Amino acid sequence: GDELTACGECPSCRQVIFHSHPDLFRVGLPEGKSELPIEVFVGSAEKRGREGLCHDLSLSAMQGGYRIAVIDDADKMNASSANALLKTLEEPGPGAILILIATDSDQVITTIRSRCQQVNFTRLSDEDLHQILTRINMVEHEGELDSKLLEEAIRRADGSVSKARTALERLQSGESHELHKVTQLLGRQKIMSADLAMVFDEVMSQAGSDTNSQREAALLIIETSLQYFHQSLTTEAGMSQLDQVHSDCYLDAMDRCFEASRQIDRKISVPACLDQFCHDLEMLLRPTWNSAGQ
Ligand SMILES: [Zn+2]
Repeated sequence: GDELTACGECPSCRQVIFHSHPDLFRVGLPEGKSELPIEVFVGSAEKRGREGLCHDLSLSAMQGGYRIAVIDDADKMNASSANALLKTLEEPGPGAILILIATDSDQVITTIRSRCQQVNFTRLSDEDLHQILTRINMVEHEGELDSKLLEEAIRRADGSVSKARTALERLQSGESHELHKVTQLLGRQKIMSADLAMVFDEVMSQAGSDTNSQREAALLIIETSLQYFHQSLTTEAGMSQLDQVHSDCYLDAMDRCFEASRQIDRKISVPACLDQFCHDLEMLLRPTWNSAGQ
């Protein structure tokens, strides 16, 4: 038997699955926030030190074993959160284990990182994603998963469970009409940046006005564009006579999409980023192959 594999059925496993295990604490980015605030660790200003993760961990284990804290989005801690956590990280107390999860470990403050043992994870295989998503669906919905949607979500996931879940949610709720327009525009012979900017604006105005929603919406636009170029490249590759000029264009456009999403991740202003994105796509996708020499 594999002692490290959770059975998923015993009382402890079920408590973990249903987030009710008294000795397992999970924190992460609050919804709509872009930083992991200090309150998560040491409580609100009024109850400072009397609640929050650090307080919970300082109590002894309810079930007499380990107390485990999982800190998701650890790369989103701000300086005061990191400082608050530092003391607990240095002296976690007997039986306490802290697991910090970060997408970009470079963004975790050095004083924190140097006190952690780093474990790098690679992208999950499609089969693993399939298994994990199916299991999550069983636990949360107990309904049938549309296998076509699941496949598409996995294709978009780039080996990440959270990306796959987001994609699946989007696919299940039906992608918005505005995003469909983005794809339609990109399919035109000649792409005008002004047209693109207008459709992008429509998508952005559907999103919430807070920075995080705006960033999410921008990533959605970029991801949709990326998918379009990827699909076009695949179609091109399937043709008997590969058009090198077309293929190179699509590759360049895909590169530009990756660059844009990195910019959004780096918190570059969303309007400025999308503006440049529109402009560059027009340049990259100019139909030069029709006018030789130009
Ligand atoms: Zn179990």
